[in-house]
Amino acid sequence: MTRVLLIIPPSPDNRHIARFSFQSYESKGNYHLQPKELMAITGCLAEKDEVTFIDGTCDKQSEAEFLSKIDRLDGDIVFFSMSNTVWKSDYRYLHEVKSRLADIPIYVQGDIFLDKDAREFILSECDGVVFYPYMLEVAEMAGARQNGGGPYPGVYTASDQTFFGHHSNRLHHISSGIPRHDIFLKSGYRFPFAKHKKFATVVTTYGCPFVCSYCGSANLPPGIRPTGSILEELRHIEALGVKELWFYDSTFGFYKKETVPLLEEMARRHNFSWSTFTNHQICTPDFLKLMNDAGCHTVILGVDSASEKNLKTFRRNSTLTKLELAIATANDLKMNICADFILGLENETRSDVEKTISYALKLPIDYASFNVIVPTPGTSVSEKLKQQGASIFDLVNFDSLGKAGNIGNKHLSGDEIIALRNRAVKKFYLRPRHLARRLMKTTSFEHFQIQFEEMAAIVGKVR
Ligand code: SF4
Repeated sequence: MTRVLLIIPPSPDNRHIARFSFQSYESKGNYHLQPKELMAITGCLAEKDEVTFIDGTCDKQSEAEFLSKIDRLDGDIVFFSMSNTVWKSDYRYLHEVKSRLADIPIYVQGDIFLDKDAREFILSECDGVVFYPYMLEVAEMAGARQNGGGPYPGVYTASDQTFFGHHSNRLHHISSGIPRHDIFLKSGYRFPFAKHKKFATVVTTYGCPFVCSYCGSANLPPGIRPTGSILEELRHIEALGVKELWFYDSTFGFYKKETVPLLEEMARRHNFSWSTFTNHQICTPDFLKLMNDAGCHTVILGVDSASEKNLKTFRRNSTLTKLELAIATANDLKMNICADFILGLENETRSDVEKTISYALKLPIDYASFNVIVPTPGTSVSEKLKQQGASIFDLVNFDSLGKAGNIGNKHLSGDEIIALRNRAVKKFYLRPRHLARRLMKTTSFEHFQIQFEEMAAIVGKVR
């Protein structure tokens, strides 16, 4: 039996920081998502293994509360989540945890380790960096200090390792294990598009098959989970009394051969209500209909910019025609649509950013997530700044909300980009037509409460 300790440190000022391996960020609203990488780790465990989970951010713990919990822990292996967004604070907590649990192997996880320099730096301070949490041999990793320390699947233990050796871009089939959802049903986790407060996060494919150079997910080669295991997971979630799902894929449905049978079975046997990230390039009307029949009420689409030409320079092939078709179909099906935008991409002028914002205002959508450009580790944005002389540790603490400022680009200062973003948020959400649309689509008092709290927080966070 292995005793596993999953630890997320508190965040400065109780900010809702999400520490995902592809990107960390501060919540733009009231939402706080479940930690999908730590959930995946629980799916790699044997039935007899024990898990203790501490989330200092979700539970808004003070430093003293958090450290007193750490002082009472005992276990065989620690997984510690870290982020680029609050790196300095997380790094300090890592030291506090290490000094208290000095004899236990400690593995870290977080977006900053998409950067090779950051990996090299942290490897001297821990037993490894988890980069693919669906394939861990946890018992062996717990014995790292006796058995020589790796290599282990899904873990960096040496700085020159690469994802999956020479096959980094090929699809991989991963983990048939089922995450222990009961551990993650804390009320502090909130999903912004949910119709029910209690929700569970499910992943069908980890990583992304696309290669947009400004995105951290492009660093994670896609790994697909077996459909049978996902269906078993859904039965487990149902038994926990959960009706709402968040399919946290980067591009749900890219692998149709696996996804279509899953959706058909969901439509036949389950009654979940759910949301997901997908991509308009793969969302045909038939596929959206299948998703809707299986209970999908909200799709999140990455628009990023209104300029197809500019997107191509970042290896993103996205067409507005396909986007508009997907949005029209989703509207016909009475689904909700969230569109994501990035403001301040390299080469964008004020007029380019304003065009993207005007485009967002014209689209018949329900939510818009306006993100300021961030030098996420491992992306072309971060690499370019490093080539100009920055160290990865000069580029920490930025996030897509702009709380700690913004890097700017050659046409716009960071403050100008943040001001454009804040104006876009107010313009989008405070239109009477938009408020009426949202009210019409609200399906219950619980749904109204979730929506109201999100909306108040989104607007409240705009300076
Ligand atoms: S499709 Fe989306 S998630 Fe995938 S690499 Fe591009 S921006 Fe990232």
